[in-house]
Amino acid sequence: MRDAWQDLLGRLSGPHEDFGSGDVASWKRADFEALCDLGLVSDGQLAASILCPECSAHWAEVMWNQDGTRAFIVCTSEGLPINVDPERLRQWEPNKPRFAAELAAELGIPDPPLNLVIGRLWRLGRCSIANRQRDIFFAAVAPDDLQSAVIEIRRGYGSVAGVLLLPSAAPDPGQHSKLKVIDLSNASALRCGRIDVDLPFIEEQFTDGRRASSKGLRLKSPARDLKEQRMGILRAFAPSRDHKQMKDLARHLGVSPSALYGMVRDDRSRYSQDKLETVLSRIGCSRAKWDRSPKPASHA
Ligand SMILES: [Zn+2]
Repeated sequence: MRDAWQDLLGRLSGPHEDFGSGDVASWKRADFEALCDLGLVSDGQLAASILCPECSAHWAEVMWNQDGTRAFIVCTSEGLPINVDPERLRQWEPNKPRFAAELAAELGIPDPPLNLVIGRLWRLGRCSIANRQRDIFFAAVAPDDLQSAVIEIRRGYGSVAGVLLLPSAAPDPGQHSKLKVIDLSNASALRCGRIDVDLPFIEEQFTDGRRASSKGLRLKSPARDLKEQRMGILRAFAPSRDHKQMKDLARHLGVSPSALYGMVRDDRSRYSQDKLETVLSRIGCSRAKWDRSPKPASHA
């Protein structure tokens, strides 16, 4: 089974492409229905070409008989026309404006988003993050196009200190930007038929930065020490620091990134105890080691 939510985020950051019946068949039925109910994917055009169902060795153009009731392809290795069930040709189109609207609603923003660049960039509105009202933007762009989104935001709103939500990991926009870039593939999931935005995760991106910048002036909290230790355990298992790798690690362990980050910070609304046990056994870490508070750092 593939993760429908992560697949959708992947399409939002890549070239605009519909999902085929094969994509949809690889998702949990409930996730597919939730995406349809939320309007995040909707019926698109029938596929014009498909992977040959006979030999799977080539793509074939879909042809229709004269009255348009029967679809077929020609298998080049067999040299034969082969009928294709029209159900196989169905495609589902990701709906970016709807995605922006659902995201805003999930963040409790009452007004509809403002589309700044058609099909690419929205201002969702303002909401409280880490005890401050902040401007929230969403850009359905590839990591390479992050700078153009940042420039557009600056053009409209100046040097605004806010949150820029992206469907995938992207490099930091640089010190000159006050925008905090958040990768939705780490900070959201599809749960119980709706978008679940991991606000505590987003808030941590603000509060952790603040603590890091005042390092040495303020004692670190035991909870934060434990969190760092757990991140260290995960990194040791998959030796990489960047978020994209955390996402890959989550997939490897069979959990959502949101659940994995939930485990790190003890947010039990995001994972079941069974899942935690499974993850710990996969990474070869005992429960005692996972829960053991690190020794307080020496303040000398
Ligand atoms: Zn063929």
